[in-house]
Amino acid sequence: MNKATVDRKSIFIGGQWKTSSSYYELQNPYDLSTIAEIPLSTKGEMEEAIAAADQAYAIMKALSAHERSAILRRAAQLLEERAEQFAQTISLEAAKPIKTARIEVGRSIQTFLFAAEEAKRMYGESIPMDAAKGAEGKIAFTVREPIGVIGAITPFNFPLNLVAHKVAPAIASGNTIVLKPAEQTPLTSLKLAQLLQDAGLPDGVLNVVTGDGPALGSVLLQDERVKKISFTGSPEVGKLIRSQSGLKKITLELGSNSALIIDRQADLDQAVPKAVAGAFTYAGQVCIHTQRIYVHDDVYDDFVQRFVESVKTLKVGAPTDEQTDVSAVINPRSQRRIIDWLEEARRSGATFLAGGEVQGQIITPTVLANVDESQKVVCQEVFGPVVVINRVSLMDEAIRLTNQSRYGLNAGIFTESLNTAFRAARQLHVGQVLINEIPTFRADHMPYGGVKDSGVGKEGIRYAIQEMTEEKLIVIHNE
Ligand code: NAD
Repeated sequence: MNKATVDRKSIFIGGQWKTSSSYYELQNPYDLSTIAEIPLSTKGEMEEAIAAADQAYAIMKALSAHERSAILRRAAQLLEERAEQFAQTISLEAAKPIKTARIEVGRSIQTFLFAAEEAKRMYGESIPMDAAKGAEGKIAFTVREPIGVIGAITPFNFPLNLVAHKVAPAIASGNTIVLKPAEQTPLTSLKLAQLLQDAGLPDGVLNVVTGDGPALGSVLLQDERVKKISFTGSPEVGKLIRSQSGLKKITLELGSNSALIIDRQADLDQAVPKAVAGAFTYAGQVCIHTQRIYVHDDVYDDFVQRFVESVKTLKVGAPTDEQTDVSAVINPRSQRRIIDWLEEARRSGATFLAGGEVQGQIITPTVLANVDESQKVVCQEVFGPVVVINRVSLMDEAIRLTNQSRYGLNAGIFTESLNTAFRAARQLHVGQVLINEIPTFRADHMPYGGVKDSGVGKEGIRYAIQEMTEEKLIVIHNE
């Protein structure tokens, strides 16, 4: 794009589009061309957004559950109407293959619909007070109340659905939001702000402030008016946020190096295509990317042969190409890091069964075998198109190696044995165990969150609403 014609974007505060004093150039991750100029918002602008959200809280609190639900339903409907525009924007700024971007939009529509439904289900419970001596003659019940301004900080990899996972439950439960999207993917968030305004969301309920994470994040963390931080991103930033957010409520959805276990009694016809998708969807830049596969000796050779054959059919190319399965990684820095980790694995004796090549900003789908567990491609989060397939002789060993990770988000196992399935379910130390499914599976209403370095708290609309509300007890003495 010619510099003179580059689209200059605005931030969204109090229902108004505002210019800023400085801008950064947003690059297309696939061809490194400039897509747009994005406001590098100041701390003052972040404070303005917090003030707008704080003011709008009174309006939001006064809306009934059915009114909040109706806004979310209209948002889902508008998203359906504008689905292709959103998919194109995601694909452009994130280099997400267009067919994968369309799937993300489809999921986001469901996320808004789940929120529209859950807005009407914020139940409390009644407490049988006379169970306690001295509490006879009392009626007690709980209600769930919103908390106020929520600071949402989001990553680049699902620019729409992971934003929806914060914005939609916040609206459903009567809160207001200041959103700081990832530097690389602000366009989708700005588009969503317009869509929600069109859906009838009152001004100031959602504010979008673009720019530098550390600078703007610190304002959100320090401001007393912000009652909760909902963060999705890397563990390093997550830890920093936790250490600086005082008594604010906090949800941290962090990284992983998810493992898949293939038992000797696995149905390989099912397991292989799913495992390939889990390893290479969006070039592995998915928090529940299938990064490690532990395969039982008895089926190892068969599994590996079928897996590699299938990987060789993946289409590598431009994100705009309808056929593309795997495209660029998010930026040259990330590409360099992944290549360094691959080189280190090669030096330590890992076998390259496929890929490992650089084509422009792309790394071709890479399959490694016999990799030492101490290698970064095994024990850290690779966040790229790389999968490690290691051999095990016992299921207990596969479970032990899976648990050896500093992370604990999702883990999967393919087995036809009920005993093995239940043993794995009990012993895997993760947030979610998937049986006869890859760890890369997620539905948007299920409880979802990690243990260990993978995070704190849950998302999934109903569970996010729990974390975005406070439970109040009301006791009535009535003898
Ligand atoms: P990142 O941590 O680099 O950035 C995430 C967000 O944090 C961005 O908006 C960034 O601007 C902001 N940020 C950076 N430094 C900050 C600071 N000091 N204070 C406040 N905010 C700050 O992550 P990323 O590269 O965008 O995303 C990849 C990571 O996200 C991976 O680790 C991935 O596993 C994780 N992730 C987790 C989930 C989940 O649900 N568990 C989902 C998607 C991605």
